[in-house]
Amino acid sequence: MNSWTDDTATLEAQALDAKQALKIERETHKLEKRLCRQVGQAIVDFNMIEEGDRVMVCMSGGKDSYGMLDILLKLKARAPIDFELIAVNLDQKQPGFPAEVLPNYLQNLGVPFHIETQDTYSIVKDKIAPGKTMCSLCSRLRRGILYKVARELKCNKLALGHHRDDMLQTFFLNMFFAGKLKGMPPKLTSDNGEFMVIRPLAYVVERDLVRWAEHRAFPIIPCTLCGSQENLQRKQVGNMLREWDKKFPGRLETMFTSLQNVVPSHLMDGELFDFKHLATTGLPDENGDTAFDEESFSVAQLPGGVQVVTL
Ligand code: SF4
Repeated sequence: MNSWTDDTATLEAQALDAKQALKIERETHKLEKRLCRQVGQAIVDFNMIEEGDRVMVCMSGGKDSYGMLDILLKLKARAPIDFELIAVNLDQKQPGFPAEVLPNYLQNLGVPFHIETQDTYSIVKDKIAPGKTMCSLCSRLRRGILYKVARELKCNKLALGHHRDDMLQTFFLNMFFAGKLKGMPPKLTSDNGEFMVIRPLAYVVERDLVRWAEHRAFPIIPCTLCGSQENLQRKQVGNMLREWDKKFPGRLETMFTSLQNVVPSHLMDGELFDFKHLATTGLPDENGDTAFDEESFSVAQLPGGVQVVTL
């Protein structure tokens, strides 16, 4: 190699790096646009945020809540309506919780925030026998505290960072283990009837939040500090969905679409459809039973050209 070939190799490597950097920048820009579009769409579709709202953005320190706050701030800056976002974190005094991370981050961001410190960790440890799952008591305590904080901060809405994959997981968990066709709603009143709970990430897929968190280098706080085992059933359902996603691309999108296309007459809940008093009308009904025909699924009905796979 002489200096001519050395120079050429260096120039080629630099050109490759520049090309790669440009590609990453373009992909990141597309990701940001997609996140904003999906969050904005969910807000519009479910009328999540209205003029004058004070929204308490619940921050756990995980990638999802960082992503939610980040995107909500971007949307707020260009929204045609006026509303407030207040970030709130509950420091539950779990061992090793880095108490300065979130306040520092939120301070630098310049967003109004509140850190509530309540030692629920000791209460839970005290009440639950070793080896038993602590999550149910822990989350009940957390809910009560967050309601109290929302009241004190005069917030009327609570934004939670659950995304599309959390919603699908919950749907299957309820079907498999609770015998219910019930998911995780994008918007619902809180169980005490006092607040509106919203999930602005309802249309966002988890892998996009992972990529966004990497890009933004969020100071993520580990969620294992309490030492509790991750819910085994949720983990299994999560693995099942990931497996399906790999084997049958598009299946999760189709399943998520189905949550928005419920046909009560083709289920079996007498509360939703009055089977007992059903009477024939003599008129054709496209939603009526096709009796002897096999079920057929039209590809045209599915989003994005998703193929039906017969198993
Ligand atoms: S994982 Fe830990 S912090 Fe989360 S609900 Fe369970 S006990 Fe509480």
